[in-house]
Amino acid sequence: MDAISYERAPDAAAAIRSASQPGAVFIGGGTNLLDLMKGGVARPLKLVDITHIDGLERISPLPDGGLRIGALARNSDAANHAWVRERYPLLSQALLAGASAQLRNMATVGGNLMQRTRCYYFYDTAFPQCNKRNPGSGCAALEGNNRIHAILGASTQCIATNPSDMSVALAALDAVVRVAGPRGERAIPFSEFHRLPGERPDLDTTLQPGELITSVDLPPPLFAEHSKYLKVRDRASYAFALVSVAAALQMDGGTVKTARIALGGVAHKPWRATETERMLTGQPLSRATLQSAAALAVREAKPYRENGFKVELAQRAIVRAVEQAGGVA
Ligand SMILES: Cc1cc2nc3c(=O)[nH]c(=O)nc-3n(C[C@H](O)[C@H](O)[C@H](O)COP(=O)(O)OP(=O)(O)OC[C@H]3O[C@@H](n4cnc5c(N)ncnc54)[C@H](O)[C@@H]3O)c2cc1C
Repeated sequence: MDAISYERAPDAAAAIRSASQPGAVFIGGGTNLLDLMKGGVARPLKLVDITHIDGLERISPLPDGGLRIGALARNSDAANHAWVRERYPLLSQALLAGASAQLRNMATVGGNLMQRTRCYYFYDTAFPQCNKRNPGSGCAALEGNNRIHAILGASTQCIATNPSDMSVALAALDAVVRVAGPRGERAIPFSEFHRLPGERPDLDTTLQPGELITSVDLPPPLFAEHSKYLKVRDRASYAFALVSVAAALQMDGGTVKTARIALGGVAHKPWRATETERMLTGQPLSRATLQSAAALAVREAKPYRENGFKVELAQRAIVRAVEQAGGVA
């Protein structure tokens, strides 16, 4: 058994100072970190409990009409907040599609952003090969059981996917992640927060050591009337996405004025389908246009032995989600 120490941080500055020490990590709701520790995947020397930092749980309006969701807001509080439900229903739907009510009551928004992949080989320390867990050891999923793995943006080092439902909605909504760290504060556009695996699959995000997520900021709501989070999974609840789609539209009558489409379950990060968005802009929501636009999203797809079905599934899910967002299905 490893000896670990525990510290309850009184404020953000103290938390950042403590977490900047080697082997120290933040703990929010603990719903992912503790599982990883129990399995021997994560072996921190020190837990810095951030859940008593005052103010970081708040959800409050921004002067530009947007919304700030504190990093310590529980997933259930964020999902059920009146402003989130009314102005960002896409985010509410995505949060409620994740985990279970009990887990959502514990899980924090910051922890959700940082949750690690559900790749079987990452979790199972009996497999020596996992570049994410043990850099340089190889990737057992490449030739192994890869039904749940990536079809886009993977590398020869790692084909794991990001499991967060919330992050797919935040990608479509162009959220900004605000962080504070040893060198001060910064704002990270959502598209730059999670990484593709490349040569460093051990790094999931661009967060630097000691940096604390303080909030997620949403721009003013543009998509409240026309959005849909569609999650396709093996069970109707309590399962991670095989493929998910966050679709957000601004409509001008029957024509798409703006489209934002993000996919989950297909890549190491939430995947923005920018070519699909461009093709839909200015078009009526006809099935033929949607099918052509959806095909663009997987043009560069590279499936592995067991996950070829995701190429077709992603296209069908895009068509269905956009039709539902646009009110034509
Ligand atoms: C059985 C089960 C089913 C699940 N199903 C789903 C699902 O369908 N969809 C889904 O999206 N998720 C699912 N989850 C995952 C769940 O959403 C995450 O475990 C949860 O969101 C993590 O939040 P937390 O606060 O508990 O994080 P913790 O476990 O406390 O922390 C996770 C990581 O985030 C870091 N961290 C936490 N807060 C901060 C911060 N403010 N700044 C910087 N780093 C921070 C920690 O150091 C740690 O590395 C499931 C989990 C379980 C156990």
